Amino acid sequence: MELGHAKVYPRDINYIMMTPSAAGGGYVSFVHELGHALGLHHPWKSIGTYKDRLKRIEAREMQLKTYLANNKLYKDNIKVGNFGKTLGELRNEINKELAQLRQEKTAKIRLNPKIYFKRSTTENIMDYNGYNDTKTQEIIYNTFSEGTTFWKWQWDLMNEEVKTYHSKLL
Ligand SMILES: [Zn+2]
Repeated sequence: MELGHAKVYPRDINYIMMTPSAAGGGYVSFVHELGHALGLHHPWKSIGTYKDRLKRIEAREMQLKTYLANNKLYKDNIKVGNFGKTLGELRNEINKELAQLRQEKTAKIRLNPKIYFKRSTTENIMDYNGYNDTKTQEIIYNTFSEGTTFWKWQWDLMNEEVKTYHSKLL
């Protein structure tokens, strides 16, 4: 189940971490983690997927834009309250953060699964073999057992990720 770790975002990240048992236990866990590193989320809704993070990004964007708007009449060289910085420096930092948030938002929209399935109900490699239901303490097994497929849109996305982020010669 959770035998390794790889991040979906930032999109150009390139590490996969696996426990020795998972690494020695056949190809499925490795391919699953590779899927994450190439932009794939699990096929069910989770904190790591788009919606919750997108909400937080949008709230932060609103906060930063409101600050810029409320202070737009002041000059760059004004010292800002407790920050020990000038307003100009703070504006630069805010604009940098806004650019990062925009980039992440675009990625989230692109990488979000189009359809969500219940956990452990598909043959997909990005699904789980099973999981422990925290409410009922029941172990739910996936009748498809080990994942065997990627879906067409996942192949397309992985291709795009490889071309865009992982194919540059050093
Ligand atoms: Zn996973």
